[in-house]
Amino acid sequence: MQIFKFGGASVKDATGVKNLAEIVSSHGSQKLVIVVSAMGKVTNKLEELVKQAHAGADFSTALAELKEYHHQIAEELLGEIPSNYLAFEKSLEEILLKLSECEPMLAYDKVVPHGELMSTSIIAEYLNKTVKCQWFDARSIIRTDQYFTEANVDWVVTEKQVINQLKPLAEESVVVTQGFIGSDLEGNSTTLGREGSDYTGAILAYCLNAECFTVWKDVPGILNADPRILEEAEQYEKLSYREVTEMTYYGAQVIHPKTLKPIAQKSIPLMVRSFQDKAKAGTTIASDNTTKMIPCFVFKGNQLLVTAQVKDHSFMDEKKLGLILQVLDLLNIKINLMQNSALTFSFCIDNKDFKSRRIKELLNRDFILSFESPLNLATIKNYTPDSFNKLPWNRTVIMEQKTSNNYQVLYR
Ligand code: ASP
Ligand code: MG
Repeated sequence: MQIFKFGGASVKDATGVKNLAEIVSSHGSQKLVIVVSAMGKVTNKLEELVKQAHAGADFSTALAELKEYHHQIAEELLGEIPSNYLAFEKSLEEILLKLSECEPMLAYDKVVPHGELMSTSIIAEYLNKTVKCQWFDARSIIRTDQYFTEANVDWVVTEKQVINQLKPLAEESVVVTQGFIGSDLEGNSTTLGREGSDYTGAILAYCLNAECFTVWKDVPGILNADPRILEEAEQYEKLSYREVTEMTYYGAQVIHPKTLKPIAQKSIPLMVRSFQDKAKAGTTIASDNTTKMIPCFVFKGNQLLVTAQVKDHSFMDEKKLGLILQVLDLLNIKINLMQNSALTFSFCIDNKDFKSRRIKELLNRDFILSFESPLNLATIKNYTPDSFNKLPWNRTVIMEQKTSNNYQVLYR
């Protein structure tokens, strides 16, 4: 059994869906589960719709645009609008009308899954013309907690459900299901966090003991830098799970960060391949892929540097550090870089307004806080002496750290 994941960019129009069908057909008669995201930028559109509907504003134009976008694709592929799709369109509209009564995170998770439900209902219908295929609702197998918008998977229940419900179907025909979505104990829809479809693919690969998990993307494979920032970005042929885990930790947007753990646990190879260049092998990620590592560059913009200073002349000791870390943990904040001195502790995080407000509220009593933003953070993993020359010129360094492998610099 194999798992294929197709992101929004790969199915942004009818041509994309036709291309997906070609990839699936050329896979032959091997068993296959296909995980698909919402089409194009539909998730962003749905996020806007949630905001409007929740605020009681008029959302009719945005909804009409969303429908029209799907209708055009369905018409071009099928010459009609499939009834399965229309049912989701109807439920989306009904939910939006009642949304203002709903708690914001729950509201989000009621609405946003419709992107995946709508895309897969059109795609499955189209695929059915050429291969025997079944549409499957991922919410009936991916069980999560109620941490709406960033739900955590209940592995025990999920594994059981995948084996009992999905596996028998996948033995018989190709299955098309949604990435990114699940449901809680009470049957409420939940989402796994933005870009979470990769993670769904990994969950299914794990539960089905897949022989391989392929992510089809709009890049030729995993590159050592974002080509929009560094022109001479190079592609890796092979990488280890560990290398990719580290790359995602530093912010490289190669794959959803939670994807690696389940597939590494079962040593399932992960392939990142180009849907535009189907003949190319892309990048293979597996346990023992230890090729010589070229430096890898990761750039993160919109960073916030927070400095906490003690109020008396005592040291910034372990107790005080512990207090700060507890608050960050409570707020679900990831530190991207940190440094301490006699009287201060400084940490760099992604700049989100509501989080800095909460930091102020919770740490103001014990520390003098200062904030600086927006800053940039560059990381070079596996640096070489000349790799430093590739960092942006004319930068004012705010904080710098170097270990035997990695170099990080926070700059203005
Ligand atoms: N459609 C979701 C998003 O755009 C999930 C995904 O694409 O992986 O975040
Ligand atoms: Mg996506």
